Amino acid sequence: MKFVGAHVSAAGGVENAPLNAHKLGATAFALFTKNQRQWQAKPLTTKSINLFKERCEKFGFKPEQILPHDSYLINLGHPEQEALDKSRDAFIDELERCMQLGLDRLNFHPGSHLRKMDISDCLGRISESINMALDKTEGVIAVIENTAGQGSNLGWQFEELAEIIDGVEDKSRIGVCLDTCHTFAAGYDLRTTEACEKTFGDFERIVGFQYLKGMHLNDSKCELGSRKDRHHSLGQGEIGWDVFKYIMSDDRFNGVPMVLETIDDTIWPEEIEALKMMAV
Ligand SMILES: [Zn+2]
Ligand SMILES: [Zn+2]
Repeated sequence: MKFVGAHVSAAGGVENAPLNAHKLGATAFALFTKNQRQWQAKPLTTKSINLFKERCEKFGFKPEQILPHDSYLINLGHPEQEALDKSRDAFIDELERCMQLGLDRLNFHPGSHLRKMDISDCLGRISESINMALDKTEGVIAVIENTAGQGSNLGWQFEELAEIIDGVEDKSRIGVCLDTCHTFAAGYDLRTTEACEKTFGDFERIVGFQYLKGMHLNDSKCELGSRKDRHHSLGQGEIGWDVFKYIMSDDRFNGVPMVLETIDDTIWPEEIEALKMMAV
């Protein structure tokens, strides 16, 4: 079964996300459980939590169809202790919000060395942050998103994702979310079926599909290996449709939330429909 949707708005409360997803004809969705550009957030209210669960039930969204995303401010590999502690606390808060909502995974960007520390040390620090957070929470899988490798962002090479996973003690609570735009920007070709075979074959060999817990389906405005994170609508960027046909017809992508973060939300219903039509 393929689950397809988009990163929908949770404006007015998390309970609006399943409603917004349902209106798009989605079978999956992503959301922020708090404002993604602020450190502080009010706790979720009981009313909000109950309504969220009620609506997920009503519209048929199970935890494996939902991919919450954490705040952009969090850097689990921060080179400075004070900022690192702040990030770690915020990450635990994000995991706790997922627990309250009955969700089983949390998508996050691995972290950045900010040119102040060694890559390998930073990857180790990210694993350590994950271990600390998993220790203090229950039942939620930490899902690392691969990045475009812009600036000093780590996690753009599959080897880096594997290294972070390697340092995590509880392998049952670590996963990966592949973003097609980021993958392409990081230098992994996705433009043809053959290119997809190679790229996802590399992913299988280096990381392993058992860790795949979500996908972000985006075309890219920038070329292969540009290391720039610029999303585009499906089929309108440098990647084209082949990768989406490939994903929708490959069993290895079954049972995980696959969400659009494409730039024109007015065409999300059509993009979702087109993806569903490709599913076999
Ligand atoms: Zn993404
Ligand atoms: Zn992106």
